[in-house]
Amino acid sequence: MKTKRFFLPESEIPAAWYNIVADMKNKPLPMLHPGTKQALHPEDLYPIFAQELCHQELNQTDRFIEIPEEVRELYKNYRSTPLVRAYGLEKALDTPAHIYFKNESVSPVGSHKLNSALAQAYYCKKEGITNITTETGAGQWGAALSYAAKAFGLELAVYMVKVSYEQKPYRRSIMQTFGALVIPSPSMSTKAGRKILTDHPNYQGSLGTAISEAIELAMQTPNCKYTLGSVLNHVMLHQTVIGLEAEKQMAMAGEYPDVVVACFGGGSNFSGISFPFLRHKLSGEKNTRFVAAEPASCPKLTRGVFGYDFGDEAGYTPLLPMFTLGHNFSPAHIHAGGLRYHGAGTIVSQLFKDNLMEAVGIKQLDSFRAGILFSQTEGIIPAPESCHAIAATIQEALKAKEEGTRKTILFNLSGHGLIDMTAFDAYLSGDLYNYELSDEVIKENVRQLELK
Ligand SMILES: *Cc1c(COP(=O)(O)O)cnc(C)c1O
Repeated sequence: MKTKRFFLPESEIPAAWYNIVADMKNKPLPMLHPGTKQALHPEDLYPIFAQELCHQELNQTDRFIEIPEEVRELYKNYRSTPLVRAYGLEKALDTPAHIYFKNESVSPVGSHKLNSALAQAYYCKKEGITNITTETGAGQWGAALSYAAKAFGLELAVYMVKVSYEQKPYRRSIMQTFGALVIPSPSMSTKAGRKILTDHPNYQGSLGTAISEAIELAMQTPNCKYTLGSVLNHVMLHQTVIGLEAEKQMAMAGEYPDVVVACFGGGSNFSGISFPFLRHKLSGEKNTRFVAAEPASCPKLTRGVFGYDFGDEAGYTPLLPMFTLGHNFSPAHIHAGGLRYHGAGTIVSQLFKDNLMEAVGIKQLDSFRAGILFSQTEGIIPAPESCHAIAATIQEALKAKEEGTRKTILFNLSGHGLIDMTAFDAYLSGDLYNYELSDEVIKENVRQLELK
């Protein structure tokens, strides 16, 4: 019998995260203080984040950073996640390619987001913080952080993008079940929310706006910090547990990936699966390709510009050097809510600029078509976000077939879609569309960037 799934024993769960910045020849440009426009120091971030996370954010020297014992204990609830050979999908595509996926959907909350949520909640608790805030798009990060907050005895308030609050009521219920307070964003509870609602009363919300609201609440509440589920360097760091495991599991399978694929929102699951493999490309040992699959309707890598921009709508965050569509970009209401973000993390942006990775834009209908083929061949209904990675994987596998090459493809299944069935319903009943985005709209948005 052929082996289908590869697991690591508990003792093999990584003891340290991988900090790729230490190995990068061209380091990411510095983040800038939004007031002074000077390069950011860890202390500048103390008002917003737990201090240890501020240091991780700007750490450019330590290649490996120890995973605290308490976090590793909780990782054991679901790690290692399986590495799976997608024999069913390979057969349906009649491809000579070998397709593997890392199944992060088996986490208790159904996505990779828990890898960083547990770490962030741990550091907050350790530093004596009692309350945390965050935003959530599709609800995956909010769900992960709700569980993590409860695990470490923290109170959590979540600003949930209004369109998702309405489209995904069960994610809200999950957060509430874990004990979090959930507020649809934009809301009247913050200055940032009130301003947007006054200007655009029917605004359905965006991640950028929800971030502004969550930061504002954290800054105005004593003993309260903000947490973010993607984009920032420390989140990418925590997610490398995915790729570090996958590296060992691919070795168990006797293979090494020629292509690594992941869907792309702010870049955390992409970074998580990619960076440990990318380190062998940076050192010149391997020549793996890395493909980020983003929605064609929110194309920061494939059609955005590189420049300094804010991470949020209101401009509370530091200025980040990144590929962006402009922090005021309002993405189409695609069902992959977790990919509706205007920018790419600074590490990934630098790697992309240096041609160490690639990006493809996936149309909404193509993503669901791919997700349905995957469901029917592998028995797992993927998150609408993950469907983008599957669509890009299928493209690679079909290319291999055309060229008659036997390549090994590894993709990250970032989450399952069992709480996203309204999205599949809409697709199956023909109610979903592809969104076209004109060059003029993109140009107009980035025209307003702070610096170029
Ligand atoms: C949040 C999310 C994403 C996108 O975020 P990244 O930071 O780019 O990984 C992708 N898939 C799932 C299931 C998510 O919850």
